Amino acid sequence: MSNNTVFQAELPASKHATDHATSLPHQPTTILVDNQESIQAAANPRSRNTTSREICKSLITNKLIHISWIKAHVGYDGNEEADRLAKEAAESDRDPLSVKAPISFLISIFKKKIMEDWQSDCEDEYTGRSTFNILQKVSTQPCYWKREEILFFTGHCPFPSYLERFNFASTSICPCGNTNDTPLHYATECILTASFHMTKPAQQHAKFKLIILQNIKIQKIHLRTEISVMHTA
Ligand SMILES: [Zn+2]
Repeated sequence: MSNNTVFQAELPASKHATDHATSLPHQPTTILVDNQESIQAAANPRSRNTTSREICKSLITNKLIHISWIKAHVGYDGNEEADRLAKEAAESDRDPLSVKAPISFLISIFKKKIMEDWQSDCEDEYTGRSTFNILQKVSTQPCYWKREEILFFTGHCPFPSYLERFNFASTSICPCGNTNDTPLHYATECILTASFHMTKPAQQHAKFKLIILQNIKIQKIHLRTEISVMHTA
């Protein structure tokens, strides 16, 4: 059972125990619970959870009833028996949980699902592959790239292949004659940008992401200079 399911299962049990204690003749009763979350919820009269509020109300009106924490799985007979019954109930189909999941729990579930869908969409896309090669895992955290780095890693730079796509250049071939017109070509092998070259990664690793991973700071300075020069050329 997840933490939340334990909470959802223990709260009705605590409510049941409190109701039972209320029906008993006038005598002090202590209900022992091994889930601190349930105790905190029961102690909060403003809890968003109806069951928690009901337990809290019973405890306020019946001063002889107390809820207290007990350490789990250390051999207390009553607690072990409650644990056994909880497991039995969890494995059976009867009595679906009547306590609604907390909003915080639902938010975390939805967030996880949204991130999974986003990741899956990202992996199945055809466009934006050069960026995906570098940032393969989606994240809500901003990625602080400078303008020149964005231009370089997305390939949206003043390279012939990019300009040709929008009819700003008649050919996609690099002026040096190389037909491999990629940002990597300019960064590592083009004779026209030789003074800005960075170390070329091994052929089997010739991906931008590996360039970045290798000595990222120096590479970025090189890139910024190179793109700036190309822009003003
Ligand atoms: Zn070239």
